[in-house]
Parts: sequence; C-alpha cells; structure tokens
Amino acid sequence: MIADHIREIEAELGTAARLVAVSKYHPAAMIREAYEAGQRVFGESHVQELQRKHDELPSDIEWHFIGHLQTNKVKYIAPYISLIHAVDSARLLAEIHKQALRAGRQIPCLLQLHVAAEETKFGFSISECDAFLQSGDWKNCPNAHIVGLMCMATNTDDEGRIAADFEEANRFFRRAKTLYFPDDETFSLRSWGMSDDYPIALCHGSNLVRIGSKIFGERNY
Ligand SMILES: *Cc1c(COP(=O)(O)O)cnc(C)c1O
Repeated sequence: MIADHIREIEAELGTAARLVAVSKYHPAAMIREAYEAGQRVFGESHVQELQRKHDELPSDIEWHFIGHLQTNKVKYIAPYISLIHAVDSARLLAEIHKQALRAGRQIPCLLQLHVAAEETKFGFSISECDAFLQSGDWKNCPNAHIVGLMCMATNTDDEGRIAADFEEANRFFRRAKTLYFPDDETFSLRSWGMSDDYPIALCHGSNLVRIGSKIFGERNY
C-alpha cells in the first residue's frame, strides 16, 4: 500500500519536485516499509519522536524537520538533520548557526513564510521576511545556510485561495532570489504542497512537497 502510494505520487511529481514523506505520528515500521520502496527523505515535526526514529532506522535516511522548532531543542537534531523547513525568526536561525558550528557542519534551512489567512500559523510575513533578508543579519549565521522558502496555504476548500497563497510565496521567492541571492545557486528550494493541495503547489513553483496522509493514511494523535 505505502509503496503504491509513493509510486503514484512520484509519477505525478516527475522531475519537478522532490518528495518529503511526512512520517510524524506513524510508527517506525511504516517508515521502514516506505524505505524499502526506495523512499529516503522523511519529515518529522517533534524532536523527541524524531530522535527515537533516527536512532532506530537506517542511517542513510535524510531527516527533515518540518514543524515549529523551539530554540532550546535545536541542539538535539543539529548533528544529523538534513533540512530545517520552518525557520521563523532571526533568533532560531542564530541558534541553528551556533549548534551547527558546534556539530562541525552547515545546516540547510528554509525561511517559513506566513501567507495563509489563519492567525495561528508561524512564519515571517512577506514584508518581515523581506526586511530580515534586507538587513543582512543572516550573513552572520553562515552555518545556518538559507537555501529557500517554505509555506503552508490557507486551510480551505477554495482552490483559488490556495493558489493565490502559493503564488504569493512564489513571487516572493523570485524577488528574494534576485535581490538577495543572485549568485547563490543553492537558494533554490520552494517547500509548498501537502496531501490535499500539492497539485496546486506544483503549478506555483513548488519543488519540494511534504506529503503525509496520502502516503501513510490518517494519523492517530
Ligand atoms: C503534517 C504536516 C504535513 C503533511 O500533511 P498531510 O496533509 O498529511 O500531507 C506537511 N507539512 C507540515 C508542516 C506538517 O506539519
């Protein structure tokens, strides 16, 4: 089942986007099943759960942290995390830099944009993100290496609204690329699209999709 779901999604993505299989709340046995189907990139959103799975599962898995990350927990995942998707403050970026230095590595990071209508979602507004990049302060944190942007669309059935949210992020990506990363080819990742909205995300610049329930089924919280 899991293998079939991954194959179907991969066929839709083609070479346009990479798949992050979001395995939060699902047991290690299900991750192993996806792993055996060839999947290597997994997304988790709780540090303790990720630590357990990282210790237990094959070492060639590329773990992505996709949730809200508290600064005091960065140190636990800094030695191995492949990509942190949701950097939503200068303070978090500075802590990632510090812990990456300590671990003797560079940690790829995405800045999280808040483009959705909901108040509760974390992230920089477009204007806050623009001001942060303009300030150049992030250049003091080279071991937290900014390689792109991430966002979530409004949680709605209105596909026009979802498309508008992703397009807003996509427009800002192009602007940020031109203004702040013109010569940096590594600034390239656009992490948007989940189980219910990734086909729309793919039409609006996404090249990294985070898909959970469509692969693993409903989560038991
Ligand atoms: C849980 C989660 C996903 C996956 O959601 P699905 O609807 O199950 O695909 C994607 N991104 C983030 C940030 C998440 O927390």
